[in-house]
Amino acid sequence: MAEYKDYYQVLGVPRNATEEEIKRAYRQLARQYHPDLNPDPQAADKMREINEAYEVLSDPEKRARYDQTGSAEEAGFGPFTGGFGDFGIGDIFEAFFGTTFRQTRVRERGPQRGRDLSVGLRVNLKEVALGCEKEISIPRLEKCPVCNGSGAEPGTFPTLCSRCQGKGEIRQINQSLFGQFIQVIECPDCHGEGTIIRNPCKNCRGTGLIQTRREIKVKIPPGVEEGTKIRLSGEGDAGWKGGPAGDLYVLISVEKNNRFQRSGPHLLTTVEVPYHVMALGGVIEVESILEKVPLEIPPGTPSDSQLTLRGKGLPLLGRNQKGDLLVTLKVEVPKRLSQEEREILEKLAQIRGNGKSPQPGKKGRGLFRNH
Ligand SMILES: [Zn+2]
Ligand SMILES: [Zn+2]
Repeated sequence: MAEYKDYYQVLGVPRNATEEEIKRAYRQLARQYHPDLNPDPQAADKMREINEAYEVLSDPEKRARYDQTGSAEEAGFGPFTGGFGDFGIGDIFEAFFGTTFRQTRVRERGPQRGRDLSVGLRVNLKEVALGCEKEISIPRLEKCPVCNGSGAEPGTFPTLCSRCQGKGEIRQINQSLFGQFIQVIECPDCHGEGTIIRNPCKNCRGTGLIQTRREIKVKIPPGVEEGTKIRLSGEGDAGWKGGPAGDLYVLISVEKNNRFQRSGPHLLTTVEVPYHVMALGGVIEVESILEKVPLEIPPGTPSDSQLTLRGKGLPLLGRNQKGDLLVTLKVEVPKRLSQEEREILEKLAQIRGNGKSPQPGKKGRGLFRNH
């Protein structure tokens, strides 16, 4: 339960005060305690209390509920949390005079960082394996070379704004019922810049920046993947008024390869191996992404077996490590047979006693079938 606050006492009015009396009392107190008018730090607390009391007592419905319950919460008014941003001097004006009063915020001026840009770049698997350097062309804002970014025609200079003396803001003294108070607003002459360009640079129309297209060399490290982002610091749009340039992000996409499938740093490939090598064992040559690698086939290797060539895959990005090459073996079926081969195979078929005896003389049929 919040402590009981006597709002009538806060405003210094009797419990049967009229609306007009409450308003008058509030106006008097606001003139005394509003922090815009009273520099004493305790005045702000006092004003908060006065606002809270006035918020309740000026509303007939809230006042009635407050009178019945004696509680601010019950009166539909929670603990006063708003500062004077919520219920400031502008509200006081509005409440009494029905005029809108708004304090203009001073716009942020001075140097501003340039925009970040991004561009896509395609690489193939060989470039992934070795890393590469590529040239890309990007449109971006650069500092105007004619005025060197100042925005003023060469030989001229931005002049100090005489209205604000270069401050970018002006103080306005307002007279009000409560006395004088000072309001700070953005200088309307220089729009908060503090300077005025009398002779704008023709090349950039006074902006200090020009749109241009620039060729940039990008170093692609080994091991990049689909979606890898490379940040080129300071290669984005130029900053404004001497602010730092933005960054350029290069977004990598990797071309598909019909020989290799990629799985992270590993590569998968399929090779055909003659039947006799699968049966007897031997060494074949497998093409990796960069070179031919010998692969030992153990005797009696079934079709669809997968053998691993360690370290023959792709490098891991930023690490001195490589993935593997996983080789799936398929039995290679000869499409044509010499007379000698045919005789040997027929003999083999007889020895193993499987399959029907192939009909001699008919090409492309028999134990090894054409597809
Ligand atoms: Zn210029
Ligand atoms: Zn100015």
